Amino acid sequence: MATKLRKSKQRDRILELLQSDHIHVTANWVYDQLRNEFPTLSLGNVYRNLNILVEQGLANRLGFGSTFDVYEANREGHFHFICDVCGAIEDIDAPVEQRQLMHRWIETERGHQVSTVEVHGTCRACAAAASRAAAAPHADVS
Ligand SMILES: [Zn+2]
Ligand SMILES: [Zn+2]
Repeated sequence: MATKLRKSKQRDRILELLQSDHIHVTANWVYDQLRNEFPTLSLGNVYRNLNILVEQGLANRLGFGSTFDVYEANREGHFHFICDVCGAIEDIDAPVEQRQLMHRWIETERGHQVSTVEVHGTCRACAAAASRAAAAPHADVS
């Protein structure tokens, strides 16, 4: 009984963390945030709780084909921009009609069921850094 209560308290805190800033986090990050607060917490607990939140529809698991999963609090339709250079993930709140149009097109034309849309590219910061590097004279130091 006590175990059950403690577990859901951890889960509440995890959800709170996810909701705080619309952030995208890894289980490791969550674990680092809460390990002092819950000394008995393990990384396994964090994964289990995150997955329960996903099952309950309160959180999303974003695979993105990377080696680790990224989690976020579930909220109404947005899609993600993922930078292929630095791996930054940004929420894109496109107008709902735009998203529905794209979802519907994919579903009717292709017969796929769309859960989420992700867009890949080079983020503003990385694009700026790349153009700075290209513009800079080659100052090779010998
Ligand atoms: Zn980037
Ligand atoms: Zn998101």
